[in-house]
Amino acid sequence: ALPRHDGTAIRQFDASLEQSLRRRGEIEHELRNAVSNHELSLMFQPKINLATGALAGAETLLRWYNPRLGQVSPGDFIPLAEGSGEILTLGRWVLEETIRQTAQWYRAGLTGGHCRMAVNVAARQLTRPDLAEEILALLTEHGLPSHCLEVEVTESGLMEDMEQARRQLKQLADAGVSVAIDDFGTGYSSLAYLKDLPVSTLKIDRTFINAMGEHQQDQNLVRTVIAMAHNFGCAVVAEGIEAPDQARTLLELGCELAQGFWFARPMQAAQFEQICRQPPDWHFGA
Ligand code: C2E
Ligand code: MG
Ligand code: MG
Ligand code: MG
Repeated sequence: ALPRHDGTAIRQFDASLEQSLRRRGEIEHELRNAVSNHELSLMFQPKINLATGALAGAETLLRWYNPRLGQVSPGDFIPLAEGSGEILTLGRWVLEETIRQTAQWYRAGLTGGHCRMAVNVAARQLTRPDLAEEILALLTEHGLPSHCLEVEVTESGLMEDMEQARRQLKQLADAGVSVAIDDFGTGYSSLAYLKDLPVSTLKIDRTFINAMGEHQQDQNLVRTVIAMAHNFGCAVVAEGIEAPDQARTLLELGCELAQGFWFARPMQAAQFEQICRQPPDWHFGA
């Protein structure tokens, strides 16, 4: 039997659509003052060398607490900030804060060497002709060696303006900053771009890691991505490790680095500093 069309469902649909549009509007509005009102902070998620269990660095992840909206997740506000252009202000804050904090740890002898900080760079930032110069100026200003920094860019970010992105990334790589492709495998782009870009790391998206245990096909896919990355001279980071057997499998497949809740969740600066001082034993009995 067909449901009765008395309009209730449509009114509910309208109400929830209106609600989500209102929330979007509020996020966009509040976001404009997020930097000046000191509402942003960074979390740090450790990356682990699978073969040695050693700390290999961290990814910085943006957090936003707004008094009216509460904690808003980056999955909700980053896309809106990309649309409105506000991402340029946020991205600049993230770069400066990452470099400032990392330089402080570097001076204290806590990071550096094999411990590198990775920062997410949005599509809109990559289309700017002076992005690389800005980053290199920040490194100089804070006295941080370029090899301590990695930028993570997505395939879709590269596709927005490939020529400009290539120019910016080449300038960064020439200066010693590493370049990683984030969420690798989720884009629909051809892989041809890889040979034209100074990429040193591929981050396999966590959807593939999740699926690995259940389907042999997915494990084959991960195996293929790792082999291909190595052919291009890239190292591989696996995202979203939630269980030790995933880490074991990835090590067997030749994956170098791993990041995920099973090793460590994103954490505040003070806690990451503690981990740098006394790294836990991350061996998982491979
Ligand atoms: P991403 O760059 O791929 O970052 C990894 C995301 O996966 C983070 O979510 C992290 O908390 C989450 N994650 C890490 N390990 C696990 C795990 O084992 N299981 C699961 N389920 N999740 C895991 P987060 O912090 O919510 O960030 C989401 C996305 O927002 C990021 O994806 C990135 O695209 C964007 N983002 C975050 N911070 C920034 C930023 O500073 N700038 C830009 N442009 N984008 C950012
Ligand atoms: Mg990332
Ligand atoms: Mg990612
Ligand atoms: Mg991802």
